[in-house]
Amino acid sequence: MSKVFLSKCANYDLKQIEDTIRKGFLALGGDEYIRTIIKKNSKVLLKPNMIIGDKRASPAITHYIFFEAVIRVIRDYSENISYGDSPGFGEVFKSAQTLGLQEVADKYDVKLENFNKEYLTISYKDGILCKSFDVAKAAYECDVLITLPKIKTHSFMLFTGAVKNQFGCIPGVKKTQFHARMQNAENFAKMLLDLNGLLKTSFSIMDGIIAMEGNGPKNGDPYNLNCILMGDDIVAIDSVATKLIGYKNPVDTPVLKEASKYGIGETDIEKIEILGDSLHDLMVSDFKLFIKKHTAFFYIATRNSVFKKVFIPRPKLIPEKCISCRRCNEVCPKKDEVIKFVSKNGKIIPNWNMNKCITCFCCQELCPTGAIYAKQSLVQELLDR
Ligand code: SF4
Ligand code: SF4
Repeated sequence: MSKVFLSKCANYDLKQIEDTIRKGFLALGGDEYIRTIIKKNSKVLLKPNMIIGDKRASPAITHYIFFEAVIRVIRDYSENISYGDSPGFGEVFKSAQTLGLQEVADKYDVKLENFNKEYLTISYKDGILCKSFDVAKAAYECDVLITLPKIKTHSFMLFTGAVKNQFGCIPGVKKTQFHARMQNAENFAKMLLDLNGLLKTSFSIMDGIIAMEGNGPKNGDPYNLNCILMGDDIVAIDSVATKLIGYKNPVDTPVLKEASKYGIGETDIEKIEILGDSLHDLMVSDFKLFIKKHTAFFYIATRNSVFKKVFIPRPKLIPEKCISCRRCNEVCPKKDEVIKFVSKNGKIIPNWNMNKCITCFCCQELCPTGAIYAKQSLVQELLDR
């Protein structure tokens, strides 16, 4: 039976987070259990979510104090710790500095791996869909991969947590190639599960202290969810997290639906042993989900061009926030085909050709000013009422 440790944690107080993580390890089985994951002298890689390195303590990224608390616990089991991510845009070291992660890493002598520069092409014959990946060398070659995700909404995948976090192990612009190849949520979910299968993600410590609701995964609003989740089944961790934020059933979200279909991890809440605090006590009802109800329509629509027009949200501009930087087009997998820049009210702004758009929302995710949001279709709005 999969076990998930769930605990209240009110804020980013280093001692409180460190104590909670230690409590979590104890509840999951103590030193004996941890040693089944982190063997002596194991090479441990921490994978925070650095989505884009533009703001310290943003609810979009793994908080630097959370990161410090994890290091303080893990170094009791291994002195060989490094960390890394490939943010959606920008240079890795600069991002890590801006986010406060590098300062912490320097303090504990934790090395930053450059996922964008050092990567390998690995074949994966067991993949459901993807038989080959370009992945960060450090993520593939480590003995123990500990993922440190945030709990967030996601315009394309509805939810992002422990499984999705490993997409950052794909170096830089190669990520856009996956978006171009896996144009619907079902295939993208399969790819994420394959990626985790290849990387053998060992454990997750999830930062749900301040989560992100609304226009996630980068420009949404902070939500004080005040919790930490831990466990070695990343699918079970995400399943508990989706319940916490208000999904009726974890399989209402694409990744967990595919995980359930292929028997990867545990998505049935009844079959997950939740240790620590009660799920019922920590569940919230006012978290702004991307799509609340009838997610089945969303799911079908991502695969069907007729339904797509009716159900799928689309990128929409808030012109006042646009700084005409053109990054949206730079990160678009369909570069130059979808976004054209037009002059309006004396300003150059993007304009979308929705017939060509694959609604991956990379533009929304990586817009530096939050000028793009995912506009719900009228039909979906009505269904969500
Ligand atoms: S929408 Fe965002 S990314 Fe695109 S040009 Fe405007 S500010 Fe830049
Ligand atoms: S315009 Fe935005 S949502 Fe459409 S394909 Fe490009 S990045 Fe994806």
